[in-house]
Amino acid sequence: MVTHRSVAASFTLAVCLSAAALAQSTDTVADPIKSMVDRLDLARYKATIKGLTQFGDRRQGTDRNRKAVDWIEAQLKSYGCTNTERIRYDFAPTPPAPRPAGSAAPVRRASAAAQGGGRMRGIRTRAGVNNDSLAQTDLALRALNAQPSTPGPREEVFCTKIGTTHPDEMYIVAGHMDGIGWGEGANDDGSGTALVMELARVFSSPDMQTERTIRFVLWNNEETGLNGARAYVAQRQALQGKEEPAGSGKYPEPKWLGMIQHDMMLFDHGMPNEDGTMRKEQRAEADVNIEFQSNSKMADASQKLAWLVAGGNEKYATDYPAAVGNHMTNTDSGPFQDIVASISLREAERGREVGAGWDPQWHQVTDLFVTYTDKDFRLGLNAAQTTLGAVAMLAGATVKK
Ligand SMILES: [Zn+2]
Repeated sequence: MVTHRSVAASFTLAVCLSAAALAQSTDTVADPIKSMVDRLDLARYKATIKGLTQFGDRRQGTDRNRKAVDWIEAQLKSYGCTNTERIRYDFAPTPPAPRPAGSAAPVRRASAAAQGGGRMRGIRTRAGVNNDSLAQTDLALRALNAQPSTPGPREEVFCTKIGTTHPDEMYIVAGHMDGIGWGEGANDDGSGTALVMELARVFSSPDMQTERTIRFVLWNNEETGLNGARAYVAQRQALQGKEEPAGSGKYPEPKWLGMIQHDMMLFDHGMPNEDGTMRKEQRAEADVNIEFQSNSKMADASQKLAWLVAGGNEKYATDYPAAVGNHMTNTDSGPFQDIVASISLREAERGREVGAGWDPQWHQVTDLFVTYTDKDFRLGLNAAQTTLGAVAMLAGATVKK
């Protein structure tokens, strides 16, 4: 089962260290990780999502997408995550087969296979991608989203918090910055992108240090088939752990210890109603869904990582709990799942819930900043608290006195 023995071994080491950190922080009256998590707040998180929506749906292969990459990079630098880099790759889009938008009559079936595994239950509505510009009734936004995607070079940005004692090992914290559907991609994936950016801000504070490295990555081309994440793996997997130049103490690609992806963090209003409508408000039972893929080579390590991150939720998330599931699918952690411990965080399970129509804004003109209330945004903030707390434990974060 252990096909990458050294990676698995070092992951186990990090798990032990984090368990020690957890025990220590439990015994300490003033928990330093709590003070780090407290540096997140709802207003900042919302402002970062709002900033991303100025670039419309940020569709890959357009000027608005390139401007969004530039803006994200400038923000990361302003947070103190100054060592930004870009992955460059080429992408030739194959036009997607048009899929009907909107919701058809709801259907109720005993069960249906879900993508990634598991079965959809209960009431389902149609989920698809809006490709109709005229469906966007906000004329300014329609104009902003008008430029079509063209084939060619693509870029995506990341920045890195370098570890003090283990600069050669890292956790990847990621989301995707491109969107689709003629809206603003406020939830998909402005919410995950903003979460990663906010964590980059907190970890880049001059008084913060981590034993291990953390890389904050904002993928491009997720919506076309995870092409940005695949390009990263193709270009950098073989560089892991190599010191370059020799003796410099610099590791351009530290060894991967875990990959934590964030995609659609806001909306958990539950199953569609009998008539195909949705509840108006975040359901009281809303949770952060942490998924790993049980049919992957690194399933054991991924499951451990999932439970560790769930532990971060129990300890540090202020409002909403987390649930762990084993059907991670259709997200940028997929290209990593046979190489390193890989999980995703979402508002709902991707296969059997989002796939069954639990998010009616998904890839639609209605995925707008104004669509969501503070109860929705707060779920995303809780996911940020969850990952920040967990990664602070895993990477050995401390605040310098
Ligand atoms: Zn997404």
